[in-house]
Amino acid sequence: MPATDPRQHSAEHILTAVFGRLFNGRLLDTRFKGTKVRCDFKVQSDLPLEEIIRQTETKANEIISRNHDVAFEQMTAAEAAAYCSLHRLPEGAENVRLVRIGQEVVTPCSGPHVKNTSEIGHLHIRTWNLVEPGLIRLTFVVE
Ligand SMILES: [Zn+2]
Repeated sequence: MPATDPRQHSAEHILTAVFGRLFNGRLLDTRFKGTKVRCDFKVQSDLPLEEIIRQTETKANEIISRNHDVAFEQMTAAEAAAYCSLHRLPEGAENVRLVRIGQEVVTPCSGPHVKNTSEIGHLHIRTWNLVEPGLIRLTFVVE
């Protein structure tokens, strides 16, 4: 498996947090494909898809531009459940590394990350479509 760009990884966490906060969204799947990242999000919103994408991209770039440090914390899965959804962890995982980006983005992840969001640059959502009602598939790049 090719190494993942830390900028893409950190950007994916921010995007996921923004979908969660604005649209009660949940990340179902991510594929890192070279310079592109493809994500599937389950969302709850009556807004037009274009508007959901626009608001999400704007908010994600706002968070990125605050130059947050990225911090890591080890804890048990039971403790981590108080901070974030663990639905993507392998079943039976006992210990979790939480990745914190500022106060608002907390994600369990063992992948590579930037030290500060200033390294990410601009998050650009390039393509999007509805796979089915409430399920958005998008691709984004960081540039
Ligand atoms: Zn990650």
